[in-house]
Amino acid sequence: MLKKIKILTVIGARPQFIKAAALSREFSKHNEIEEIIVHTGQHFDKNMSEIFFEEMNIPIPRYNLAINSLSHGAMTGRMMEEIEKILLIENPDFLIVYGDTNSTLAGALAAKKLHIKVVHIEAGLRSFNNDMPEEINRILTDRLSDYLFCPTQTAVNNLLREGYENIDTKIINSGDVMQDASIYYANESAKKSNIISSLHLDKFILCTIHRAENTDDSDRLKNIIEALNKSHQTIPIVLPLHPRTKQKIESLGINLEVKAIEPVGYFDMIELLKNCSLVITDSGGLQKEAYFFNKNCVILREQTEWVELVENKVSILVGANYNSIIKEIDFMINKSSDFSNNLYGNGTACNKICSEILKINF
Ligand code: UDP
Repeated sequence: MLKKIKILTVIGARPQFIKAAALSREFSKHNEIEEIIVHTGQHFDKNMSEIFFEEMNIPIPRYNLAINSLSHGAMTGRMMEEIEKILLIENPDFLIVYGDTNSTLAGALAAKKLHIKVVHIEAGLRSFNNDMPEEINRILTDRLSDYLFCPTQTAVNNLLREGYENIDTKIINSGDVMQDASIYYANESAKKSNIISSLHLDKFILCTIHRAENTDDSDRLKNIIEALNKSHQTIPIVLPLHPRTKQKIESLGINLEVKAIEPVGYFDMIELLKNCSLVITDSGGLQKEAYFFNKNCVILREQTEWVELVENKVSILVGANYNSIIKEIDFMINKSSDFSNNLYGNGTACNKICSEILKINF
């Protein structure tokens, strides 16, 4: 009988559910692969977690650790402790982690210390800003991983610059699994979402804000919201509000005049992306999705991991300066851009990753 390859996938945050949905779909085509999902519980609200499992048919997690709302150290430590126990029970051939959250680092650390091979999807990204918790998580997870699947050549180059050619790891430019997800689910969303009609949207801007550098700095958050309020007078801004951002806005008593809605599922998000005139965001994933759906993007950050977008002038970095945000919204909403150069691969990343995994000799 064919030996099954046993994979333990650790996910915990919204963007990881979307990435894992795409790759799990690919795994499900192969009888020789058994995937066990561990949900750390980092994101736990229904519309930050459950909705994605339901909509995207992600396999039900065998383990749900319900670890959230703790400091970075406590959260990462508790996750490590629980993931270690699961690894000892399941004894997988390898562990997969995605992106740059505490769940990513906790999974990689726990596995590596048990000599279990680690696969990092979305490896090699750098913002070169060590104040970002995500940057610390990325750097350390890359260093611990045995297989580094990079979404772009820039990510490969970042690793080579850090000396990875001298480290015993395999670096593969697979393209971006989020591109695969957006292509596949764009067909489904058209049938399943009615958000555009239910919100009576015509011409509008789509915005999200959730990075700690914006939510945890009251001046930045106030500047951003005031600029959005001003632009909203000209063209409506729809803001699916991340729970952390909502809580900060309320506690600071900031006046929010844009069309704030609850976080939405992926189908609604894709329909909002397809129909908007511009994206404003500090999200990593949404910057790329703007590009996938041919939309310019104003990035509410000082730097981005997705430098190709800025180099290709489809995105612009504005930080949190009131005047710059308003000025660049006006500019980017009218700018015609070239979205034809497949910066993130052609939607075959999951297929490439799966083929590589099947080649690994355990
Ligand atoms: N997203 C969503 N609903 C929302 C906001 C975001 O489905 O209300 C999706 C978005 O389309 C993208 C992912 O969540 O695929 C991005 O996640 P997030 O911005 O939380 O994290 P980041 O990408 O910055 O790590």
